[in-house]
Amino acid sequence: MSLTKDPDVYYADTSEEKNKINGGTLYLVTTPIGNLADLSERAKKVLAGVDFVAAEDTRNSAKLLAIFGIKKPMVSYYEHNKRERGEIICDRLAAGESCALVTDAGMPGISDPGEDIVKLCAERGIPVTAVPGPCAAMTALTLSGLFTARFAFEGFLSTNKGERRRHLDEIKHDRHTLIFYEAPHKLKATLADLFSALGDRKISLCRELTKLNEEILRTTLSEAVNMYTDREPRGEYVLIVEGASEEQAAEGAFWSDMTIEEHVAYYIDGGKSKMDAIKACAKDRGMAKNEVYKVVNV
Ligand code: SAM
Repeated sequence: MSLTKDPDVYYADTSEEKNKINGGTLYLVTTPIGNLADLSERAKKVLAGVDFVAAEDTRNSAKLLAIFGIKKPMVSYYEHNKRERGEIICDRLAAGESCALVTDAGMPGISDPGEDIVKLCAERGIPVTAVPGPCAAMTALTLSGLFTARFAFEGFLSTNKGERRRHLDEIKHDRHTLIFYEAPHKLKATLADLFSALGDRKISLCRELTKLNEEILRTTLSEAVNMYTDREPRGEYVLIVEGASEEQAAEGAFWSDMTIEEHVAYYIDGGKSKMDAIKACAKDRGMAKNEVYKVVNV
């Protein structure tokens, strides 16, 4: 439904019809990332109404449900049992039961096992719907003070040194803002690797979001590395890193080894008129059109 300012339309989705629990459906229910008050009314209704709950950690989620007076049959669904357990959950959904999927915190499917079961449901034609809520990545991005119009979620960097290096090499020329998750005991090494691969960019370290000790540290990668040499990271972190500068992006561009004449010729070969090719070349290089024009018309 598209949002509209007409309250009759905007609130239409709170109708009984929309909010009844449908058999045979998987509900992705987002849980708080630190503040219990962020569990939505709709999430509570769905958790109370489904036939069973699939949880990344059943003990953890049983505690959350108990706080809200909800008791439900639970099955575990986590990284190491997701393949066979996913099939079993889908069999139950196909037989008409309803299920709520919750993970340890936040939005199922973002750096946790939610992604696989949605894929499986899609393959088997099982309906999936979402009860959205807080996601650490989006919460951090909006608080970062950095460019939010274009961003990429990079998740956790691999602990394998080679893969980590490849990942950072792949993204070091990207202009958009980068979002990383990191565990506190790996933070120092990750800051050092980000600094060495990406250069000295702005970073916002978003810690303990929505909790009592929430902290947003807006600094640079070099300062962050220094800061944490004699400070032990504590709590959960999202790192929001500024995208590549124009110069850094240019180093990795397809035209970085071309002369201006070759760059314009590339676009002409691709079917552009000479003027459009000059315009495209100027845009890529952050130059004025007439400067490019002068070079190709000598
Ligand atoms: N699905 C979750 C979501 O929607 O954000 C993320 C799950 S991932 C396994 C856990 C990571 O999310 C943590 O290591 C941390 O990087 C980030 N995170 C979760 N809660 C956070 C919080 N309250 N403050 C900062 N980062 C958080």
